[in-house]
Amino acid sequence: MIDIAIVGGGLAGGLTALAVHRAHPDLRLAVFEAGEDFGGNHRWSWFATDLDPDGEALIAQFRKTEWDKGYEVLFPGQARTLASSYRSLGSRDFDATLRRLLPQEALRLRARVSELAPDGLTLDGGDHIPARVVIDCRNVAPSPHLRGGWQVFMGRHLRTDAPHGMARPIVMDARVAQEGAYRFVYTLPLGAHDLFVEDTYYADSPVLDRSALSRRIDDYCEQMGWQGEIVGGETGVLPVITGGDFAAYRRELGPPGVVRAGARGGFVHPLTSYTLPFAVENALVIAREAKLPGEQLAALFEKRAQDHWKRTDFYRSLGRMLFQGAAPEERYRIFEHFYRLPEPLIERFYAARSTLSDKARVLIGKPPIPIPAAVRALLGKGAPLVHEGPR
Ligand SMILES: Cc1cc2nc3c(=O)[nH]c(=O)nc-3n(C[C@H](O)[C@H](O)[C@H](O)COP(=O)(O)OP(=O)(O)OC[C@H]3O[C@@H](n4cnc5c(N)ncnc54)[C@H](O)[C@@H]3O)c2cc1C
Repeated sequence: MIDIAIVGGGLAGGLTALAVHRAHPDLRLAVFEAGEDFGGNHRWSWFATDLDPDGEALIAQFRKTEWDKGYEVLFPGQARTLASSYRSLGSRDFDATLRRLLPQEALRLRARVSELAPDGLTLDGGDHIPARVVIDCRNVAPSPHLRGGWQVFMGRHLRTDAPHGMARPIVMDARVAQEGAYRFVYTLPLGAHDLFVEDTYYADSPVLDRSALSRRIDDYCEQMGWQGEIVGGETGVLPVITGGDFAAYRRELGPPGVVRAGARGGFVHPLTSYTLPFAVENALVIAREAKLPGEQLAALFEKRAQDHWKRTDFYRSLGRMLFQGAAPEERYRIFEHFYRLPEPLIERFYAARSTLSDKARVLIGKPPIPIPAAVRALLGKGAPLVHEGPR
């Protein structure tokens, strides 16, 4: 009998396993991951201010890239350097750390789970494994109960022939042609000769046109004077949730008694689709409460998910303004306006900890989109998030 069975060895599942093992090395723990490695093929980034000291201590176990000289944003009407430190973790380093720090018997790769229940799981092939607590950290599932748009992106790891000379990340370069979406390019200088360049779209549909995005990354690199060899890359199609019936969504995930965490559990920043700060927070809560019976831990997480949904309502409203209140080519103005605001407000926004006065500051001032369109968008429902995008 396993004490804690985690299904899905992505960001949330892996962090949870590490946090539980660190707090309770005596507990029998296993992470069941369908893939060959933990974490898939991702690069996860976040602001240092997204994490509290306990979160920082958990993530300190991974080798990651850190930038402490701030970051830049570039728009047609403004360029700004912000002071916040930025961090990025590649899934290879994530995988290596889990293999190094977790007990061998906890690493269950190539183990696809076909059924989850409060008292155990069934693997593809039929083996049943009893467990005191079952934690569902599988991928986010498209759902007719959620509404919104899509974040579509392609990233490229480029090893440059000459040192590129970039000192800090460019988190948004929106000076590029908008191409029917809010489009920006994101660049991380991973090393003196290494750049990670990502072309990102806030788009109405989940279509990832690989050849068009690849060509546009070529063009961007050429304009920036970067030449070199492509050594890796990633693509993503993530839901940007702008509304929906969250209780119906959670019910659809399965019967009560299973702990539902990760992006699938609803623990996302609705506007950025990022999850790292919430995955870290949840991992620490599970570690603290790891001795609770499964049903109680599941109930605690049901409540955390409902609370998370309530406290992120503001970001869903902004998402509606982005997708429904502005023509695709004009969407960048919302972010350009946002990036004129004070930096502590921006930090709280990304950590999904905006105060009431932050929210008022974001919404008042010279509106970046026409007021009637904004009001219609705030009252509107948005499109259902049901398409499964090509990845
Ligand atoms: C390319 C890419 C880049 C991203 N960049 C960022 C970023 O910079 N910052 C950020 O915060 N977010 C980022 N995101 C969003 C990202 O989805 C989440 O932050 C994060 O990966 C979600 O974590 P998760 O553990 O919930 O799901 P995932 O990391 O997707 O992990 C789910 C895991 O479950 C496994 N699984 C699924 N079904 C089964 C099954 N039946 N049995 C066993 N295992 C199963 C999958 O193989 C997978 O490994 C990015 C997403 C993508 C796709």
